[in-house]
Amino acid sequence: MTVTRFAPSPTGKLHIGNIRTAILNWLFARSTGGTFVLRIDDTDVERSEERFVDSIRADLAWLGLRPDAEVRQSQRTALYELRFEELRAAGRIYPAYESQQELELRRKVLLGRGLPPIYDRAALALTEADRAKLEAGGVRPHWRFKLDPGAIEWHDLIRGPQHFDAATMSDPVIRRADGSWLYMLPSVIDDIDHGISHVVRGEDHVSNTALQLQMFAALGAEIPIFAHAALLTGAEGKLSKRLGSLGVEHFRDEGIEPQAIVALLARIGTSDPVEPFANPAPLIAAFDFSRFGRAPARFDEAELAQVNARIIHQLAFATVADRLPAGMDQAAWEAIRPNLTTIAGAADWWHVIEGPVEAAIDPEDRDFLATAHRVAGAIDWAGDPWHALTGALKEETGRKGKPLFLPLRRALTGLDHGPDMAALLPLIGRDRALERLAPS
Ligand code: GLU
Repeated sequence: MTVTRFAPSPTGKLHIGNIRTAILNWLFARSTGGTFVLRIDDTDVERSEERFVDSIRADLAWLGLRPDAEVRQSQRTALYELRFEELRAAGRIYPAYESQQELELRRKVLLGRGLPPIYDRAALALTEADRAKLEAGGVRPHWRFKLDPGAIEWHDLIRGPQHFDAATMSDPVIRRADGSWLYMLPSVIDDIDHGISHVVRGEDHVSNTALQLQMFAALGAEIPIFAHAALLTGAEGKLSKRLGSLGVEHFRDEGIEPQAIVALLARIGTSDPVEPFANPAPLIAAFDFSRFGRAPARFDEAELAQVNARIIHQLAFATVADRLPAGMDQAAWEAIRPNLTTIAGAADWWHVIEGPVEAAIDPEDRDFLATAHRVAGAIDWAGDPWHALTGALKEETGRKGKPLFLPLRRALTGLDHGPDMAALLPLIGRDRALERLAPS
């Protein structure tokens, strides 16, 4: 049974990077008939805010990524306490008393000597008496997880074989002196408790994984499978600051549909093509970590806009009806849909249908349009008025191609481009068409 989790910290809104992580977790869970858990990582009481929890939920709902369960770390501290005590009793967690400044100084000294800035485990050398003395002096300890020496290895579903040497890593601080938790250990405790089978996240977490693998082992748990996705870069190929500020609100304002975001983010950085899927079923069916590459995935807003337009061109009237201008029916939607890049753009074409339109008539076309007006009054409007009109005009005036079509389009819509006139003209209707063709 596959269980994935998306574990954002509610210290801000979701941005394109963590939206992608959510999408990958959701797609993989759905592709395997598994479960997708939303875990709110709100152990940092100072920086976590309820409004961000709400916006994370709302963003996932808008994207169509429905979690099967939601859990919050702030409600699970009793379990963390329990497992902390177990690890402490087993000698895998130890108190340390250095201040930030002291640690910083030691780091600088090591770096200055060209050595890796690894914590020297001075706290492990303290005797019971040393600790009692420090604590009597008002120093409260923070807590570190003691790494086992040796190689740390795993097979990453995206990155392949991974190798770290514990000797090159510092024992991670897992709990602050005030008793609050850092992200590392609670995440492992939750992954175990929730039976997470696959941890899917960004490659910025790779070195955390090395540390966390030892925590899984120390807690006697089976180790989940890991997949670390390469980071996103901007269109220009560089890690851009802008990506961190792009969230659901921005895309919604730009008229981007959630399906476009899912379709694009599911495929960038993979060997599969980006395709405009209005329904995620094919993305779910074809989801495969082995398609993901290790090179950064390029996120291009222009590409997103293109995918968005191609998705809009497929959307059924019923799915968009409540977002269209009042009165706009299925025939109108289907006529203008191929010309839209956003659904909001439907209003502009609706205005072209309803009028009034303003048309700049070329003096050379006046006679032609006067003829058109007469012919339009005589044709059968119930059938295919555009072909009836243009067919009769061709016969009568000898015009064909652009000189035939363009003046009509201009007079009838006020524009040189737009939806297929054969679909548009019945919507404009006889009365409005005659009015627009009438000599001024
Ligand atoms: N709260 C962590 C983050 O947002 C979770 C990382 C993880 O997936 O374990 O980076």
